[in-house]
Amino acid sequence: MMNAEEFRKHGHDLVDWMADYFEQIEQFPVKSKVAPGDILAQLPETPPHEGEPFPNIMADFQKTIVPGMTHWQHPGFFAYFNANNSFPSILGEMLMATMGAQCMIWETSPAAAELEERTMQWLAQMIGLPNNLHGVIQDTASTATLVALLTAREKYSNYEVNQKGFGNHLDFRVYCSQETHSSIEKGVKIAGFGKENLVKIEVDGDFALNAKTLEEAIKKDITAGKKPLCVVAAIGTTGTTAIDPLDKIANICKKYNCWLHVDAAYAGSALVLPELQWMIKGVEQANSFVFNPHKWLFVNFDCTAYYVKDKEALLRTFEILPEYLKTGTRGKVKDYRDWGIQLGRRFRALKLWFVIRNFGVKGLQDKIRKHNRLAHWLKEKVEAHTEMKILAPVSLNLVCFQYRPKGIADEEKINKINAEILQNINDTGKFYITHTKLKGKYAIRVVPGQTHVAQRHVEQFWELLLETIGNTSPTA
Ligand SMILES: *Cc1c(COP(=O)(O)O)cnc(C)c1O
Repeated sequence: MMNAEEFRKHGHDLVDWMADYFEQIEQFPVKSKVAPGDILAQLPETPPHEGEPFPNIMADFQKTIVPGMTHWQHPGFFAYFNANNSFPSILGEMLMATMGAQCMIWETSPAAAELEERTMQWLAQMIGLPNNLHGVIQDTASTATLVALLTAREKYSNYEVNQKGFGNHLDFRVYCSQETHSSIEKGVKIAGFGKENLVKIEVDGDFALNAKTLEEAIKKDITAGKKPLCVVAAIGTTGTTAIDPLDKIANICKKYNCWLHVDAAYAGSALVLPELQWMIKGVEQANSFVFNPHKWLFVNFDCTAYYVKDKEALLRTFEILPEYLKTGTRGKVKDYRDWGIQLGRRFRALKLWFVIRNFGVKGLQDKIRKHNRLAHWLKEKVEAHTEMKILAPVSLNLVCFQYRPKGIADEEKINKINAEILQNINDTGKFYITHTKLKGKYAIRVVPGQTHVAQRHVEQFWELLLETIGNTSPTA
């Protein structure tokens, strides 16, 4: 077993490895090239009986594990949504790991609870949330949305479902657009409403929820004797970062007394920019709001910021008090185990605090503005190209487009050509991009959002794209 002196030595070596990793990251293929089972085949089928020296373990990490990693912190990672990190965040994670605190209640680490309270207040100010919301860190947006749905369920059933089961509360309906994230559907299933009670509202040409259709759907449900429970508004959908019309949705929720949950998992970070505050016009009417600093605010995964207006409803939904968790400080402090699903909690506020302080609000704004600029540069290149087409509005740093070669009208064929281009680009190892389908069209989806992405990376991407198109047979 390792002692403190050996830990010190290996720790220094590791930090060197970590710094080297960032300096040399562009030499790795962004997307791992291993085949299914490649890594498993290199791992012994049985665990070692005797302990092994750390340098041996580290050597295997480099030999076996690193080639099987997709490098999310590579500046050419343009896939999905980024999960970017930063040096202060990594250092925060290291200290958190070192203290290994389990921060379930105030007494199990008062600083963790109070730093969480303060950093969540900071974040709310930074992104322009009203001060009637109470913040708590959750592991993921999926969990936070589930928490919102469960809290709405309890509040609107007068806390009866927790107590007795669904009984006669079988008529709850939840609404979101066709473009909202799959976590909404998952939450609806887990919360017990049933997938058929999730109403997916059609979207406009810009892929945002159509408020008129929402109101019609709610009215129809009321006529049919159902209970509209919750509307989930997406600020920045996963497909295209479409922005649902929050103020219109908020007014509908008010009129029909529905819980309004805002899913800004990705785009929430961009609200640090004053010029993007329009995206959440009407947010003061929201009952809950979620966004992921672990996506686009340079905080290591995982760190989700969840805000709720009715704190009492949240606590009544999740509070538990077995004898062994009773403390003398109860009621005077925040015991965050009552603010969500799990009992045990990591000290996530630490890395968040490190990031906010080390970047400063201005540093965060500069980075996000830059990412948006890079995407708009790419958008303009695509628009100016005679055989390419932008397929969705570019509101932030996500660009969806298609190559549409002259003389080919068959949409299926065009889809296939674009899939081939995407594959060829990913195979170079220089960039990693993913796709989405927009009104039946295969869209190449590019998100420059890694912490260290620079103009030269999008320029290289553009050159590679042109070269790849040149090499792709138009009759594919
Ligand atoms: C990424 C994303 C989610 C899910 O986030 P997790 O933290 O991975 O659960 C939910 N909604 C939107 C809009 C997202 O982009």
